Amino acid sequence: MINRSFWEADLLATPTDIIIIGAGITGLSAALSIKEARPDLSVAILERSEAARGASTRNAGFATFGSVSELAEDIDLTSAEMVAATVKMRWQGLQLLRSRVSDVEMNFIQEGGYEIFFKRDEYEQAEARLQEVNEVIADSVEHDAAFQVSPHKASDHFVKAHQQMLVTPLEGKIHPARMLAKLRQRVYQAGVMIHFGIEIEQINAHDRGVELRSTMQDILNCRQVLVATNGFSKQLLPELEIRPVRNQVIVTEPLQNCPPIGNIHADRGYYYARTIGDRILLGGGRPFGGTDEETNQFGLTKKLQSHLLDFLEQRFTLDTKPRIAHQWSGILGVGPAKEPIIKTVQPNVTCAVRLAGIGVAIGSIVGHQAAEHLLQQMN
Ligand SMILES: Cc1cc2nc3c(=O)[nH]c(=O)nc-3n(C[C@H](O)[C@H](O)[C@H](O)COP(=O)(O)OP(=O)(O)OC[C@H]3O[C@@H](n4cnc5c(N)ncnc54)[C@H](O)[C@@H]3O)c2cc1C
Repeated sequence: MINRSFWEADLLATPTDIIIIGAGITGLSAALSIKEARPDLSVAILERSEAARGASTRNAGFATFGSVSELAEDIDLTSAEMVAATVKMRWQGLQLLRSRVSDVEMNFIQEGGYEIFFKRDEYEQAEARLQEVNEVIADSVEHDAAFQVSPHKASDHFVKAHQQMLVTPLEGKIHPARMLAKLRQRVYQAGVMIHFGIEIEQINAHDRGVELRSTMQDILNCRQVLVATNGFSKQLLPELEIRPVRNQVIVTEPLQNCPPIGNIHADRGYYYARTIGDRILLGGGRPFGGTDEETNQFGLTKKLQSHLLDFLEQRFTLDTKPRIAHQWSGILGVGPAKEPIIKTVQPNVTCAVRLAGIGVAIGSIVGHQAAEHLLQQMN
């Protein structure tokens, strides 16, 4: 650890109106919304990594509205109203993101998403809920038939599974790191300062504002704080109902005759696959990983990596044996409901966390709503 220079320490010690902890999609989006509403306020973002290193640049890049079996399960576990509200956030979030970062800038392609099934009865159960799910989310996505029975067979997508699939034309995919880089650029243009390499370990809220302490003994003062640390939030705010979960991902070397598999979801969204040019990305498999994946530590396990490779070889029709070129993990913040938590947690401290596996779609609107919430506290 090297000491801070006087200049570095002085910059950090300068009081700011609002400090955001976490430079992922949520923190950056919140900063933009704050500056749009109140350009007069000074805003700084603190990020512990050298670049944002949570989930926002480590995900699979689906701008997803979910799958029928995932949403049907959510209806059973929570309520139709909550599912409609969360899907509306996905819809509005994606619109907001696309208004800030152009489709070209983040390689957004709306090519639809397919839900595949390993067994016939799984398909039949999902198909039986199709109409109900469509009715629940129709207003949220301004579409009466968000999900449909696919006219294609699984084998048309080079997938070895039950032949019937469900499809939504609404789903898109992006390049997550390009998206975040462009958002960051917009944030700088709005006059927001981002300090990388600052990890906050203590939040001391008081009547007039908040004092933050970093692991390098920096002390920062501001009027309001927004915590946007998602899967890492428990350390800062242990009272929150959120737990970290790791997801592992593999990407193949370029494949000879890479099959156009499309955007594939299986097992209520626990497995996901897509192409990146002539490569296949495959991720998830959390139920197989079990409690090993209930962690906020990055890392790869042999067990899950070989499971993903087996899945790739057994479930897709490939000309040659795939070789893995990239493998990584990322950390999600999950809880009993898919609903994010946006609320005041201490005087002058708001949180915007628990974006589960849908942060690409909802991150912008979660940041926006958190900004509105926080600004109301200042009035
Ligand atoms: C493998 C994987 C695949 C996924 N696939 C998809 C997908 O296809 N579609 C989709 O919509 N969603 C997907 N997700 C989920 C999505 O990526 C997240 O919901 C979203 O990125 C959350 O954004 P965030 O800004 O809230 O959190 P993050 O991106 O995690 O950002 C939080 C930031 O806070 C920083 N931080 C943490 N603690 C501190 C501290 N104490 N001090 C300072 N900084 C701190 C972290 O370094 C991090 O950069 C996936 C996630 C993973 C892991």
